[in-house]
Amino acid sequence: MTSIKNLYDVAVIGGGPVSSQVAYKLAGMGYHAIVLEKKEKLTGPVCCTGIVSRECIGTFSIPDSVIHRWVNSARLFSPIAKSLHVWRDAPQAAILNRPAFNAFWANRAQSAGVEYRIASEVRSIKQSKKTALVDVVHRGEHLTVQARVVVLATGFGSWLVDGLGLKGAGDFVMGAQAEVETNNIDEVEVYFGSKIAPSFFAWLVPTVKGKALVGLLSRRNPPAYLRSLLARLVAEGKIISGDIPFTYGGVPLRPLPKTYGDRMLVVGTTAGQVKPLTGGGIYFGLLCADIAANTLNRCLSIDDLSADKLASYQRSWKRRLGRELRTGYWARRVFEKLGDRRLDHLFGLMESSGLIDELRQAEELSFDWHADVVSRIFNHRLLIKVFRSMKLPFHLEERLRKGLKT
Ligand SMILES: Cc1cc2nc3c(=O)[nH]c(=O)nc-3n(C[C@H](O)[C@H](O)[C@H](O)COP(=O)(O)OP(=O)(O)OC[C@H]3O[C@@H](n4cnc5c(N)ncnc54)[C@H](O)[C@@H]3O)c2cc1C
Repeated sequence: MTSIKNLYDVAVIGGGPVSSQVAYKLAGMGYHAIVLEKKEKLTGPVCCTGIVSRECIGTFSIPDSVIHRWVNSARLFSPIAKSLHVWRDAPQAAILNRPAFNAFWANRAQSAGVEYRIASEVRSIKQSKKTALVDVVHRGEHLTVQARVVVLATGFGSWLVDGLGLKGAGDFVMGAQAEVETNNIDEVEVYFGSKIAPSFFAWLVPTVKGKALVGLLSRRNPPAYLRSLLARLVAEGKIISGDIPFTYGGVPLRPLPKTYGDRMLVVGTTAGQVKPLTGGGIYFGLLCADIAANTLNRCLSIDDLSADKLASYQRSWKRRLGRELRTGYWARRVFEKLGDRRLDHLFGLMESSGLIDELRQAEELSFDWHADVVSRIFNHRLLIKVFRSMKLPFHLEERLRKGLKT
């Protein structure tokens, strides 16, 4: 076992965008940070569609060089027979080139002084009174990295969370995605239905000329549903071939109950800082990365990295995102109970009642912030009848009433 001599201020586990953001911010505050990534390179394929809002692009100054394209409209297909066209004049979202974005974010952190170690899988973390000891396997060799504090940003399904005695997120969906060649598809398409993506949705997202990402998130068997969606899209003449390799991933639907401990914070998808209605985790993860860096700055400067002191991180990110995550989760549970027929009916009502136009023009319709729009949908005089007909369990109705109205 080799020990890396330095004592780092911060060891960040994982080389994704959230890790790079935390490390970059801390380096800018004068701290010595190391990022440990298990993959052999930072530019490999990522199971992610890379859609983020214009707000995210602006807030984090994400450069054009990592953006495939901007999007201002989408066509939504109901399970049986309806479709809705949603659009706005100005672009609402951008599709990132995910591997390029990861690499850019890591290069930026490296230029600010962060050290990166690739091919370095963290196996365990032990906190002591004075430091945290990180056990790393680098190409068969065991190394120990010492840091004053550890940030865990290892993405979905990290068993390190259990090793640290933190309970997992508890609810999640799995996904699969493939890059396909298209026949001039120029608009994002989203497909709903129990035969397409049970409990979630599927998508066709054009990226660069002649290419698109087709994927889905689901509670059951994503590869089987993706194979069947690809065959359907080939038959419809939208894509050229359905015989392509898939990438796989997962998305937590609820945050970890506890995202801090002695000499440790958990950030990004590992912490469950993901929009439950869409599975988008980049923007919320980056926002929480900044909150984590600010908390760490305060705690490192007074050299108090106890769980008690670091607890303020969880209070801060909950203040920013708590209502969104709670509302999104309970709205998702209702969505899952709708069933294909009711969902089809809702599509029709949204069109005929003019709600879709109302929402299109509503200030609160946002790509990222769903609580207000969910509230408007659940309180709409026509749609409320549909939700009542569902005879939702009392606790769910109660939570919706409270969660959605506050
Ligand atoms: C099918 C699918 C589509 C998605 N589409 C979107 C989308 O369009 N928009 C959006 O905002 N979000 C999307 N997401 C979610 C998004 O991909 C994640 O929220 C985002 O990548 C989170 O970033 P992160 O840095 O927290 O984790 P990640 O990007 O997952 O990075 C974690 C890193 O940690 C490394 N790692 C893991 N364990 C260890 C270890 N023990 N030691 C060292 N390194 C380790 C991993 O190799 C990885 O590089 C999608 C997810 C899926 C599954």
